[in-house]
Amino acid sequence: MTAPGRPLEARSVPSPRAREGGAILETVASEVCGTDVHLHHGRLSGVPYPIIPGHVSVGRVLETRGPLADVEARPIAEGALVTFYDVYGTCGACWHCLVARAATRCPKRRVYGITAPAADGLLGGWSERIEILPGVKLVPLPEGLDAEEFLGGGCGLPTGFHAVERAGIAMGDTVVVQGSGPVGLNAAIFAQLSGALRVFVIGAPKERLDAARRLGVEDTLDITEIREPAARAAWVRDRTTGRGADVVIEASGNPAAVPEGLEMLRDGGRYVVVGQYTDSGDATLNPHRQINRRHATILGCWGYEFSHLHRSLSMMAKHTARFRWRELVTREYPLEKAGEALADMEKLSVVKALIRPGG
Ligand SMILES: [Zn+2]
Ligand SMILES: [Zn+2]
Repeated sequence: MTAPGRPLEARSVPSPRAREGGAILETVASEVCGTDVHLHHGRLSGVPYPIIPGHVSVGRVLETRGPLADVEARPIAEGALVTFYDVYGTCGACWHCLVARAATRCPKRRVYGITAPAADGLLGGWSERIEILPGVKLVPLPEGLDAEEFLGGGCGLPTGFHAVERAGIAMGDTVVVQGSGPVGLNAAIFAQLSGALRVFVIGAPKERLDAARRLGVEDTLDITEIREPAARAAWVRDRTTGRGADVVIEASGNPAAVPEGLEMLRDGGRYVVVGQYTDSGDATLNPHRQINRRHATILGCWGYEFSHLHRSLSMMAKHTARFRWRELVTREYPLEKAGEALADMEKLSVVKALIRPGG
């Protein structure tokens, strides 16, 4: 991806060699997600184009240099099927890392496929090889999980997990998720696994809402059918004895969803904003009615840490019979059709798409 708005370009480079303490992966598959569409429109700041897209990927270890181990000190051998925590550069020495303990806000933090310049190497998954830099943490896929299942969750898996962790759901809670993309669907899954009694998803298009119901969601609201925000809030209140939901998770990307979602929240409820990953503009709130008098707790949720990837992947391995993540993968594309994959993602005609560099 050479620059915003430009067609994708295929480039050949010499096959990389592993650095000391690093590895080279042969890419099995890499996800296509809404972030890639944002990147292609230049909607994220600080992106060092040209970049190789693809931040969440699965590969086979082709070459290592020096012994590599997973977080539980089990060795990772060549040939292992792995994913990796797609962040590097986090310094562990700055105020954000050490005092605030908010490593996702470290100014040195870089993300594969997003803030990694192509000039620095094969640091994105839409590529036949991926370079694992020293210190980047490999995560072997748990027994019984393959690339398709894991990438059916994709970056939405740890992101949805993180949002649910922030929400602090109590057993028996009623949860509303605004947005039916991968983050929203994963939040709906983890809300159930956290003990939510009832989960509702609000979004579009129909295929994504059908997927939500297959994932155990009690009911869905199609925003293309019920178009008035007040009517949508009334829909939630009708289902919650007029009180509103205990927890509302915003995963829609639309700023207007925030005041709308606060109208769906019960007094004393918790509201998590995870969908506003790019700056899509402002929204107007009524601080008296929607925050102060409602006694609301409002939380933001940025990125995810290693713990979210590790825990969400372990949860996926345990619950894959109940929640069919792999069915969220609606299409696969070879590398040369990556532009088509972006266009389909933008039209929302796919829930989750994969790039298969090996064809
Ligand atoms: Zn730092
Ligand atoms: Zn993603």
